[in-house]
Amino acid sequence: MHGDVHVRHQLRVAREHGGEPVVAARLLDQVEGLTSDEDGRADAPRGTRGHHRSGPTRVINERLDSRRVHGRLISEKDHRGSHVRGQSSDTEAQRAAETILRPIVDDPQRSSRRAETRRDNRDDRRQARGTRDRDDAFEHRSAAYLGDLLHGPESGRGTRGQDDGRRIAMARLTRLHRSILNRGAPDAYHRRVNAHLDLLIEHGTVVDGTGSPGMHADVGVRDGRLELLAEGHQATAERRIDATGLVVAPGFIDLHSHSGLMIFADPLHEPKVRQGVTTEVIGVDGLSYAPIPERDDLEALVEMNAGLDGAPDGLAYDWSSVEQYMKRLDDLRPSLNLVVLVGNSALRIGTIGWDEETASAAKVADMRAMLREAMEQGAFGLSSGLDYPPGAYADTDELAALTDEAARLGGFYHTHVRYPLGDRYLDPFREAIEIGRRGNGPVHITHFYHRQTFPGGPEPMLALVDDARGEGMDVTFDTYPYEWASTRLLIMIPPWAQAGGPMPTKRRLSDTGARNRIRRELSERGVLFAGRRAWDDVRLGAFRSPDLLRWEGHTLGEVINERGQDPVDVLCDLLLAEDLRINQVTPGPWTETLADFIRHPVGMIGTDSTFVADRPSPRTYGSFPRVLGQFVRDEAILGLEEAVRSMTSAPAARLGLRDRGLVREGYAADLVLFDPQTVCSTATYEEPRSYPIGIEWVLVNGQLVVADGAHTGARPGGVLRRTG
Ligand SMILES: [Zn+2]
Repeated sequence: MHGDVHVRHQLRVAREHGGEPVVAARLLDQVEGLTSDEDGRADAPRGTRGHHRSGPTRVINERLDSRRVHGRLISEKDHRGSHVRGQSSDTEAQRAAETILRPIVDDPQRSSRRAETRRDNRDDRRQARGTRDRDDAFEHRSAAYLGDLLHGPESGRGTRGQDDGRRIAMARLTRLHRSILNRGAPDAYHRRVNAHLDLLIEHGTVVDGTGSPGMHADVGVRDGRLELLAEGHQATAERRIDATGLVVAPGFIDLHSHSGLMIFADPLHEPKVRQGVTTEVIGVDGLSYAPIPERDDLEALVEMNAGLDGAPDGLAYDWSSVEQYMKRLDDLRPSLNLVVLVGNSALRIGTIGWDEETASAAKVADMRAMLREAMEQGAFGLSSGLDYPPGAYADTDELAALTDEAARLGGFYHTHVRYPLGDRYLDPFREAIEIGRRGNGPVHITHFYHRQTFPGGPEPMLALVDDARGEGMDVTFDTYPYEWASTRLLIMIPPWAQAGGPMPTKRRLSDTGARNRIRRELSERGVLFAGRRAWDDVRLGAFRSPDLLRWEGHTLGEVINERGQDPVDVLCDLLLAEDLRINQVTPGPWTETLADFIRHPVGMIGTDSTFVADRPSPRTYGSFPRVLGQFVRDEAILGLEEAVRSMTSAPAARLGLRDRGLVREGYAADLVLFDPQTVCSTATYEEPRSYPIGIEWVLVNGQLVVADGAHTGARPGGVLRRTG
């Protein structure tokens, strides 16, 4: 049942390779996932919490050491014949590990000192924060997930899932992850000795995206692909980068970006590539700009959504299918790669129109056909944004049917949930999971976080994900690591008032009766999309009309004060004066609980970056560097390798990208080289348009887009298309 076949195989391979330390460390990483809950991986990333300024390089070294220590622990546990999760009766792998590890196991005294220090640190931290229960739950969950990653969700925790077909479908992510881990062959860095390369990256610490410990290795790039070099290789190269002191990682993959239109205005896309992002997902929140058959509808969607996605001047909206839209993006030659999702608003606009209407069976069939065609043209799945009409008018069954269609083609459901639903806390996410359950498809909850205004804590939210996965479903999520949300100001207006598209919306905004109804509903609804301080928490941006420009970056509360009018009248007047195109920045995730999401085993990063307004949410400029600097180095809430995994191979697996997200022979040469000692975000609420520090080099498809910390002007990106 607890098939450790691949571990045994790798141990055998490692023996043949002479049991080098790096090889053994990698093996330990695998073995550890099988054998240790308490002393292993769940502990290692956080064991340095007491050393706030220790720095990831040291963390890497300590983790390597901890694995050596751990080799000793494994053998001791084996002697005691206990404490070994799911493995106690099968000791072959451990004996093999012991044999290989013997040459590199540290001085035992030093080992036990280290183990004690780590234990002390952990105890201190627990006492200090009083979060023992939460940590225990986290460790339990981590252990369960690690079992999933190595063995698939059916192992170790009894029978899960109601039928085999669903379980197999739902396990796609974990299976892909497992195959990635299996491909982490011990000889991965011992391939090429002679090669002539386009680029040679020397002396760096490779953190390859699997979650395995960093290791010293040189990496080559030729014809846009990675070539891995043996120690002592003789490779020559057109250009060399000295990566001494830098981490060499796969390029970061952002699961949520609002650049679907704005990238046409700025194909260099500096806020993102300067963070190390090499691929980003567009068409999110149900708001994709293809497929939309009629040009009038496309322009109407642009108008409705300009406060969120912008509306670049001079852009010709002359595409309709996903294929045509992708071609426009390819012709643009952006600096990074793009993954396109199909928004359910687009599907509704193309079939039902803009009205608040339940979809008939025939209309659902039409939407399925549109989605199928778009995915056959290379889209990766379905997105929803259930606060944004007309997609917000879709009910659970409609979304389940579309999810079923996406899943049949190997895609997934990416959802901004229906936040006003039910208890406005857990029910919105319950619906998301129910859509996946009924639609037999994978669910990815985007910008999943705990709001200060939510009644409960983060644990019940995360338990929904854990329980669904326990049931055999494939549920994942992303989070942006900032306290500041942002969207279009129009989100304040209830969905019924937006029926019919921009013209009817504007008519209602100027109608007294409609304003009165909006006023009544907003007294409840407003708090959802603002903060505790209501209008004073709504910072406005993206103004265009000359007499309103002075409000750029000011709060709605300030406008209300100056005008001395009713807030809803001010809100409606502003929206009308700006043709609906106003952006807002409001409080979002609660800082105190962000870490619980960031460090969750299926948590990933979605920046939700927006490219309108003078002062956007700082997440647009700082998300990935903030995780690496603050959460990994300064606060040690997760290990560097684990953070990199969640930014690279995990989203690649989520999307089904089979040649990105890892530093692997033959993979696309998307890389980021960052300094683990200095990497940090400098973007703040007050000054969000500020580039990060420490992201030194970024390659997209083998070309340098960031060199020595500056954009090179290169535009080697394009659209990635789903295959098979
Ligand atoms: Zn968004």
